[in-house]
Amino acid sequence: MGIEVVFVTFNKGFENVSGFFDCEDNSIYVNQDEYPLRQTFTVAHELGHSVLHAEWARSAEYRMLMRDGDYTGNEPHEKEANAFAANLLVPRFMLDRYWNSMPLEGLSRLFAVSVPVIKNRLAFEYGI
Ligand SMILES: [Zn+2]
Repeated sequence: MGIEVVFVTFNKGFENVSGFFDCEDNSIYVNQDEYPLRQTFTVAHELGHSVLHAEWARSAEYRMLMRDGDYTGNEPHEKEANAFAANLLVPRFMLDRYWNSMPLEGLSRLFAVSVPVIKNRLAFEYGI
């Protein structure tokens, strides 16, 4: 998609920002101090904004993804970007194949996402 992913250290006061999508230079900026699984989810989340919310991402309404704002955030764009990221990283057709045959930690390693992301996907897809 031609989007550049840039790992950076955010300025003082913004250390808790996980990342953001800058539509002006078509780049996703990721907090390089967060752990890798977190960064992967951030990139997928911001990719969701670029695919689904190009216009909104240009507006003043767009706010940076905060570390604890992404799972709990009720803002519709944020929820949609989280769903996009979760489905991109943990596709239903692959989950169907493996969810019943390994523990949460195994699924976490297989899909390279955190255990909470796996738990969310299982709850959403199978109600467990
Ligand atoms: Zn977001």
